Amino acid sequence: PVDAEPHKFEAEVSRILDIVVNSLYQNKDVFLRELISNASDALDKIRFLSITKPELLADKNELEIRISYDDEARTLTIADSGIGMTKEDLVNNLGTVARSGTTKFMEALQEGAADISQIGMFGVGFYSSFLVANKVTVATKHPHSDQQYIWSSVNGEDEYVIGEDPRGVTLGRGTEITLHLKDDAEEYADFGKLEQLVRHYSEFVTHPIFVRKTEEMEVPDEDEDADADATETSEEDELDVSEEEDAAEEEKPKKMKTVTTHEWVKSNADAAIWNRAKEEISDDEYQEFYKIIAKEALGANATSWSHFDAEGNINFKSLVYMPSEVPRSFMGGDLNNFRSSMKLYVRKVLISDDFELLPKYMSFVTGVVDSDDLPLNVNRETLQESKIIAIIRKKVTRKVIDMIKKFSESEMPETEDDAEDEIDEEGNVIEKEDVEKVHPYLEWYEKFQPSIKMGVIEDEANRKRLSKLIRVKTSKSDDKYISFEDYVSNMKDWQKQIYYIAGQNIKELEKSPFMEKFNEKELEVIYFTEAADEYMVSHLREFDGKKFTTITHDNIEFDDEDADLKKRRDAAYKEKFDPLIKFMNNFYGRAITRVKISHRLGSSPAIVSSGEYGQSANQERIMRAQAF
Ligand code: ADP
Ligand code: MG
Repeated sequence: PVDAEPHKFEAEVSRILDIVVNSLYQNKDVFLRELISNASDALDKIRFLSITKPELLADKNELEIRISYDDEARTLTIADSGIGMTKEDLVNNLGTVARSGTTKFMEALQEGAADISQIGMFGVGFYSSFLVANKVTVATKHPHSDQQYIWSSVNGEDEYVIGEDPRGVTLGRGTEITLHLKDDAEEYADFGKLEQLVRHYSEFVTHPIFVRKTEEMEVPDEDEDADADATETSEEDELDVSEEEDAAEEEKPKKMKTVTTHEWVKSNADAAIWNRAKEEISDDEYQEFYKIIAKEALGANATSWSHFDAEGNINFKSLVYMPSEVPRSFMGGDLNNFRSSMKLYVRKVLISDDFELLPKYMSFVTGVVDSDDLPLNVNRETLQESKIIAIIRKKVTRKVIDMIKKFSESEMPETEDDAEDEIDEEGNVIEKEDVEKVHPYLEWYEKFQPSIKMGVIEDEANRKRLSKLIRVKTSKSDDKYISFEDYVSNMKDWQKQIYYIAGQNIKELEKSPFMEKFNEKELEVIYFTEAADEYMVSHLREFDGKKFTTITHDNIEFDDEDADLKKRRDAAYKEKFDPLIKFMNNFYGRAITRVKISHRLGSSPAIVSSGEYGQSANQERIMRAQAF
């Protein structure tokens, strides 16, 4: 730089540089995320200021980030047309530590409790450049400054220099950071690598990011006299290679030459979809975004989504999706080992893609949360435990439940079966078979019910809400699913409890002697055939004030009978069967709890049942199956 002035780094900065430079940390990629995030912040600033002062954009209208490399010089350049920095800014921003918490970060780093990838959260992300560079040069032009300045620092030195850029003003506005790559960081001077990193970290940064692609190509040499091996570098972004050939030359073997072409490739998707107005986003766009973030979906569409702004103490935007198929890593697997696929963004920059923003039982949900209110000066672990995350988690969980509920209540979609009856050649109407249509929610529910049930079991705060999503088959539902709400509305006037019976399959349950009296009285009984069902009901206990009661327990009472009559009949039975009861008690001894007269048998003479507080036979069967 012209009139280069040396400046000393603040002691804390020197310490950070020391740690970064000497770190054995392998994942050096983070530097690019940090520099893009700074560029994006700078663009956000100018965008905000230009709302009231549009003239600020006069020197350069585009708001964008451009990344290029020179593999011979082994440099990597990240340029943005953001706010830029004045000379004072350079000293304050790139020579001192602006935020508190840095000391803590350094301590945590030294203790191994934090790693370098968290550097951005401590307000010192810029220095991660030294993970890959032994010299960093920052050229920058602020709209309020007539000059373009250069800041530069060499790896390991405790001072940096600032001076006027000898090239004059080359940037309309903004900042251009040039990294002189270390020997072991050559891999970053490569289009494929850069594009992959940009996609990974900044896919949804709201500003366009271009990566410059340099390619060498063999093309026919039009100029006979030219040296066949000559390499020509084109200054054009795109090279126009003429395809026309001279007829006379056709016979001769063509001479070839190598040319280098350059092309700017936009490497991130369009503006973060969750930041856009709902009304402006088409279903196709939502599905496209889903396919990008839900890798597990393997290109399948989402079943539905919820896109919302949460406002209050904590503001955030979120977009969550329900898959149509159970994620493969989920099937047969232990829910507890399933990793979340929620992405956490802070100011549009990806912080983590497996942050626990939802309870485990909702791990099938994929989505994004973006908040400007998250503190950056805490590490990931603290953030995970922070109150803000707890608030976000609560709200997003509710929204997911609402989304499923809405889906369950949605109208039956039109299908081809709704087409009119066909008419054959002779004019006869071929009536379409009346195919019974299944609501898409029920198809979805079949696949995802273990998660919903897990929710009822684990999520006390949302247990009631989740129980409304449960569907069951019953003795009167004709093999169709009904909700607990449906069950309650079908109840007899005098019926106080919700009856269920659990077993291996519906066929077996239908034949159960316990069912006789219930069928006779036309009482609806829920059939539970999944292992989790009874466990779920033991947590749920009741629905709409009606207690869940298994019909195999021995205290089943029917409330439709006259109490007086019952009493007299019980007395008569007791007298009559007393000898038999005594005999049976003797005969079975300790194998049973007690023998008693039952009111609930039809044609079966006797049944073995479980006590009210005992395990049901089905639960015992499940436990036996699990313990081998
Ligand atoms: P943070 O981004 O958390 O503030 P960094 O160490 O990443 O911490 O950056 C320090 C400061 O340097 C930024 O706050 C900003 O003021 C300035 N800065 C860095 N990069 C740029 C850029 N590309 N354009 C303008 N200012 C920048
Ligand atoms: Mg930063």
